[in-house]
Amino acid sequence: MDISSNGLAEIVGAANVLIGDDIGDRYRSDFLKKHVAAPAVVLRPASTQEVSEILKLAHREGTPVTAIGGQTGMCGAAMASPGGIALSLERMNRIEEIDPASMTMTVQAGCVLQVAHEAAEAEGVFLPLDLGARGSAMIGGVIGTNAGGNRVLRWGMMRDMVLGLEVVLADGRIVSSLGKMIKDNAGYNWKHLLIGSEGTLGVVTRAVLRLRPLPTTHQTAIVATESFEDTIRLLRKLDASLSGRLSSFELLWGDCYERVVDAQLDQLKRPVPLAKGHGFYTVVEAMGSDKEGDDAQFERALAAELEGGLIVDAAVANSESQRATLWGVRDEMHVGFMNLMPFCNYDVSMAQSVMPTFVARVREDLAQRFPNAVSYFYGHAGDGNLHAIVNPLEPGKPLDSIAVDRIVFGVVRELGGSIAAEHGIGTLRREFLDWTRSEDELWMMRAIKQALDPRGILNPGKVL
Ligand SMILES: Cc1cc2nc3c(=O)[nH]c(=O)nc-3n(C[C@H](O)[C@H](O)[C@H](O)COP(=O)(O)OP(=O)(O)OC[C@H]3O[C@@H](n4cnc5c(N)ncnc54)[C@H](O)[C@@H]3O)c2cc1C
Repeated sequence: MDISSNGLAEIVGAANVLIGDDIGDRYRSDFLKKHVAAPAVVLRPASTQEVSEILKLAHREGTPVTAIGGQTGMCGAAMASPGGIALSLERMNRIEEIDPASMTMTVQAGCVLQVAHEAAEAEGVFLPLDLGARGSAMIGGVIGTNAGGNRVLRWGMMRDMVLGLEVVLADGRIVSSLGKMIKDNAGYNWKHLLIGSEGTLGVVTRAVLRLRPLPTTHQTAIVATESFEDTIRLLRKLDASLSGRLSSFELLWGDCYERVVDAQLDQLKRPVPLAKGHGFYTVVEAMGSDKEGDDAQFERALAAELEGGLIVDAAVANSESQRATLWGVRDEMHVGFMNLMPFCNYDVSMAQSVMPTFVARVREDLAQRFPNAVSYFYGHAGDGNLHAIVNPLEPGKPLDSIAVDRIVFGVVRELGGSIAAEHGIGTLRREFLDWTRSEDELWMMRAIKQALDPRGILNPGKVL
């Protein structure tokens, strides 16, 4: 596009039009440095109106536009098209209102998730969505991906927290429905089409988020179990015995735990929180508001399962620093896998009952094709969401990620799961979308895309 003549600077101000060398690395790659972007221009609008003006112009000229947030997505979805516009919402970062009476927060799309957390807590209320990238990910990005994270088990995904939404459509039309209602069945609920659409149907500019009472206590433990079946029975029992306070249930297969804690001991001097050698390890957390009662209830619940033999070993955090150590096992897993780079990583979901079959089948199929392959499994098992890391270990050869994808997604397909639990499709998983969605579903998706973005300018090449 012809930057000088199209009036972009008139819309956002010259300082917010970045071209050439002024486009820093932040706009050219993502968190994992796995994908690269080559936008012609980065624009940093300050208002919904400015976003609308930009899209009207792009629509007229047929120029691709990719909305970008913190660039922490995992599938290349925020990588702007070559020669297109990278639309960074970072200046639209205000928290416009916190309404404790209605338990809502009205926030602009460029607000960083952690800033929103802290603002809510300062008012004595709670925004439950939490994930490792909280310090960089933005509200527009977590809505764009329908992010999940560590507390989905109790409070749901981002979709469950969005009450109202304001978006700008491909032609620049502003659609705003910033209501604060939990219930609203007046016709099609279009906001759910936009949530998780990875910037392909509209640009989110503002949202009304649902808040919850701020938990004032948390009880955290890491527990060992010997079988997957025991682990899932434990999940069900704790969910009942903790009276709905179970907030996180983060599982690591035993070999994955060992690799991570060994590396963390070696590189971070972090003590191993629980002896190695068991089948499965789970970081369990409950949250509540009755300090004495909650602690006692948590200890009672774990003691009962230790006595009954479901849990074979456990370590309970007695201080904030011990809590950080336990969560460190899960939040800083990358320490254990750095020397396996480059590897293939997966984010899949399925019925919890078939998870052991999934792991066994993937390992079998990998061994047939790549005799030296290594694979590790962990994830938000409480939500039916597993992550896998696979390296085929073929020294001297480039990573054959497509062959590994076919093995992993082939098993997911057979077991009726999804190839994208929370990270989305982006460009990375696009070739496999029809392994998880039927022809009719894809037809419907294309029809929606065509209706809302007939010129295909919004994040082209992503998802579909
Ligand atoms: C360390 C780490 C841990 C993570 N843990 C989790 C986890 O537990 N659970 C989980 O679900 N994800 C996790 N993620 C990935 C997750 O998708 C992102 O962290 C987050 O949802 C993306 O937010 P972002 O602002 O970085 O979006 P970006 O990466 O910038 O964008 C992601 C997508 O959203 C679109 N988008 C961005 N802004 C807008 C907007 N204003 N309007 C419309 N579309 C927009 C982009 O076009 C792109 O398609 C993790 C990532 C990292 C790096």
